[in-house]
Formats: sequence, structure tokens, C-alpha cells
Amino acid sequence: MKHFSSFWESSVLLRKFDFIVLGAGLIGKQIAIKIKSKSPNARIAIVDRSPISYGASTRNAGFACFGSVSEIVDDLNRSPQDQVALLASKRLKGIQQLVSNFGADAIGYRNTGSFEIYTQQSEFNQAIDKFAFVNQLLYDVAGIDEAFQWRNIANFKMNCFDDCLFNPYEGMINTGMLNEVMNDLTHRMGIIPLYGLDIESIAKINHGYELKDKNGIELSCSQLIVTTNAFTSFLLPELDVTPARGQIILTKPIENLPIDGIFHHDKGYIYFRNLDNRVLLGGARNYFENQENTFDFNGEDNIRTHLEKYLAEFILPGRDFEIETSWTGIMAMGKEKIPIVKRIDNHLIVCVRMSGMGVALGPVLSDEVVALC
Ligand SMILES: Cc1cc2nc3c(=O)[nH]c(=O)nc-3n(C[C@H](O)[C@H](O)[C@H](O)COP(=O)(O)OP(=O)(O)OC[C@H]3O[C@@H](n4cnc5c(N)ncnc54)[C@H](O)[C@@H]3O)c2cc1C
Repeated sequence: MKHFSSFWESSVLLRKFDFIVLGAGLIGKQIAIKIKSKSPNARIAIVDRSPISYGASTRNAGFACFGSVSEIVDDLNRSPQDQVALLASKRLKGIQQLVSNFGADAIGYRNTGSFEIYTQQSEFNQAIDKFAFVNQLLYDVAGIDEAFQWRNIANFKMNCFDDCLFNPYEGMINTGMLNEVMNDLTHRMGIIPLYGLDIESIAKINHGYELKDKNGIELSCSQLIVTTNAFTSFLLPELDVTPARGQIILTKPIENLPIDGIFHHDKGYIYFRNLDNRVLLGGARNYFENQENTFDFNGEDNIRTHLEKYLAEFILPGRDFEIETSWTGIMAMGKEKIPIVKRIDNHLIVCVRMSGMGVALGPVLSDEVVALC
């Protein structure tokens, strides 16, 4: 519906904000909370096109993880060692901060540890070759001892090598609860929620930025912080941000499900966990890359079929299961697997392109943004 502002709206309700955080995902919410803690009198709005946010934050798998051995080795093939190590240490710190900032019970966090499984001899050989090197890297950068340890998982009754690499520092969260606890905090702190505004353009004005939504509502602020992740290219096309859809399937409850924890496979492209006696399985976008580089939330059958086949062959061999539901979320990638956190000009900061790691990176990156404010 086209919006024509009244005097009261433009002079009071929508008068110039000190800060607007554009994008109410996990990153935007944490940034808004931290700015408000630092500047309690600042007038801060958090703006989103959706009533509950619609990107990756409410649609991920609920992993609190900082990278498996095969994922870290793959990253090392693409980026310098110090960058990869720094990213892993930020992810680890981020997980610790999520738990200490919000409380394990409030976000449904369980420190189950994680398991990287192997189904091919070549993957297993690589793990044997590289795990000590990766452990040393993580020890040097984050001071954690033996991040990856060999563990026999024959009791999980999966169709994979009995030995896997176990990481005791990772765990699972309830993504719904994590978002809700942050929503509650933004409300209690007096951050102004402006949900349902699809921002079509942002433009520099005197001493700030002006935002226009597709129904004609105009907002202005002294400082704009863009946290629109995959969708940033619509507003700031000069940034290297491309969408990457992640698909998830969830089984109905399964009696005597033997697995407990979060599981990685194939450089992190496959991930699964137990969820209230169900199996949640996601990924495989590397097999359908062109198709999955999309903003479309409507997932495709071919990838769901691929995931169901994986479930039957490797996770639940010989067992019956039914699929209860499936969904997708849109992540943000770029040529480099590192987020973009920077000040663009005196009135604009961006914190985007989470490269599928925003759950873990949020606490540390939001601190970096606040330091830029
Ligand atoms: C299937 C899946 C599995 C994942 N697994 C993990 C994992 O194991 N570990 C991990 O750390 N991370 C994981 N992630 C990634 C993680 O969820 C994201 O990195 C993180 O949620 C990004 O948060 P964000 O706030 O930057 O972006 P988003 O959550 O995408 O939020 C961006 C917000 O901006 C809003 N928006 C966009 N454009 C506009 C506009 N023009 N106007 C108004 N609002 C707009 C959107 O509605 C959205 O709410 C996964 C993601 C998916 C989809």
C-alpha cells in the first residue's frame, strides 16, 4: 500500500534517527544491541522487510561451529594461512560469547561436540595427514589444545569409517531461541523496530543517509549500518556479494536414534544433527552450484532428493524414515571467504557477506562494527 506520511509521522515517529541498522538478522540485532548499550540515549531503529527477518538467521541448521579439518584445509587452498586461522579463532570466540552473553539455556545451547565423518578412503587419508597440522594452527592462534581428536563412532550405526575426528569445543543451538532472545533484548532496550519496510534505495544526504522503502516511506539517519548480507547487492552493487542458497530437510521423530551431536562431512558442504529425535540434514550445494546461487527461497527437488539419498545411504542405513519438512535460507558468499566489515564513508558502515559463518562470527564482528561507530 502506498504510504503518504502525515505531519505526526514525519515530525515524530519517523524523525531522523541517530542510527539505523538495516537488516534484522543475527548480525543486525547484535550490532543494534551493542550500540544501544554503548550509547543508551541514541535513537536507534532496526529495519527489516520481514516481520521476523528473512535471510539466513532464522533458517540455518543451529550449528555452533568453527570449521572441520577438511573445511579448514579447503579454506587454506583458497586463502592465506593467517586469514584462515584468524577466521577460525573469531568463530570460536564468537561461540563462547554467544553462550556467555545470552546463556546456554536461553539459546538452547548444548556442548555436544562435533564429528567430522569420512565415507571415502581419500577423505580419511587427508584427515590423517592434516589433523595434527590444523590442531597446531588452532593452538597457535586461539590457544586451544587438541581441537580435533580421533573418536570411534561405531555405536552411531552410520555407514562411514568407524573413526572420525571429534571436536569437543563445538555444539548445537536452537536457532529460533537465539533469535528470540535477541528480539526480546532489542525490545527491552528501546530499539525501535521498523519491520515490514522493503528498502529500495539508500542515498547520501547532508550529515547522513536517506532510505526509501518500496511503498514510499522515507527514513533518515546520521549513521547507517547495512547488515543485509546476501541481499546487499541490490543496494550496494559495487560490493562482491553473491547469494548461496542452503537447503535443509528434517525427518519425523525416529525411535532410538543413535546419533547425538553435530556432524560435518565433505569440507563442511554436508552437515547434520539430531533435533528432538529427528535428523536435520542440510547442504550439498556444491553439487548444484549454479542452481543454488539464487535469491529464490523456493528450494529444488533435485537437491532434496540428493539429501534424502545421503540420509538413507550414510546416516540411517537400513532404517525407515519419513521427511517431516524442508526449508531453505540464503547465505552470502564472495570470491574470498571473509566477511566485509568496513566504513564506506562518514555516515555508512557495512557488515555483510557472512560466508555461511554468521552464527559464530556475529559476536566478534558486531564488536568490530561498534568500534567503527
Ligand atoms: C542452511 C544454512 C545453514 C547455515 N549453517 C551455519 C553454521 O553452521 N554456522 C554458522 O555460523 N552459520 C551458518 N549459516 C549462516 C548464518 O545463518 C548466517 O551467516 C547468518 O545468519 C547471517 O546473518 P545476517 O544477519 O548477516 O544475515 P541475514 O540473516 O540474511 O539477515 C539479513 C536481513 O536483511 C533483511 N533485508 C535484506 N534486504 C533488505 C532490504 N532491502 N530492506 C529491508 N530488509 C532487508 C532480510 O530480510 C534479513 O532479515 C547457515 C545458513 C543457512 C541458510
